[in-house]
Formats: sequence, C-alpha cells, structure tokens
Amino acid sequence: MTEPLTFTIEQFYKNINQKKLTGGKCLTCGKIHLPPRPLCDNCLSTQFKWVELPRKGTLLTYTIIHVAPSQFQKMTPYAVGIIQLEHNVNLPGIIKDTPLDKIKVGMPLEVELEEAPQSQHWPQWPRYYFKPA
Ligand SMILES: [Zn+2]
Repeated sequence: MTEPLTFTIEQFYKNINQKKLTGGKCLTCGKIHLPPRPLCDNCLSTQFKWVELPRKGTLLTYTIIHVAPSQFQKMTPYAVGIIQLEHNVNLPGIIKDTPLDKIKVGMPLEVELEEAPQSQHWPQWPRYYFKPA
C-alpha cells in the first residue's frame, strides 16, 4: 500500500478542528466524497484533493434516537438526519437547536462546527452538528 492515507475520516475531523468542512474531490471524475475515502467509488481513482464544502443544505431524511451510545445518552431523545449540501453531497449528523416536532424533511439546515470537549474519552475528535439555517 503506497497510496497516501490522508483522505480519511480522521483527517476530515482534523479539518473540522481548523473550522473547515471538507470533502475529498476525485481528481479524475470530480466526484466529491463525504466522508472522504482513499478510493473513488465512481472511477476507482486514488487521486484526491481536499475541497471546502458549502455549509448550507436541506434535510433529506431523519430519525429520532431514544437509545443512544453511552456518551450521547444524556442528549436523548435527539434527531439524527442526513442533509444534502450543494454539489449533491450528503452528510449525516445530529440536528440540534430545533424542537423535535418542528423537524421536517426539506427544511433548510446549516452545518455548525464545534471542537470536542477535552474531557471526553471518545470521540476525541472535534465534531459538527446541524442547526436551522
Ligand atoms: Zn472518481
């Protein structure tokens, strides 16, 4: 394995720590991968560059979480959704700052970046969430 491994979910989260929402853009076919991956699922290229993504999108689908992993249990119930950003890039994440009964498919949402609290064991990585645009 000699290909660079920088197009990983770990680097994606490191970029968030720099306040950048990024995806891996395939240099061969132009497809943007989010989360980034080292191999293009469209053309099998391994050549990518990081591109900064738009922060605004619309909600494609969502679900309400009642039973969560222990580090999120205090937040329940909460909503997890998939939003579609410009460039047809889909991003899954937690929806915050919205009453659960006000969440609707098609609503405009914005990606907010936050740094992970130092006290948490996992994830140590900085995170993002969605809020009403
Ligand atoms: Zn490609």
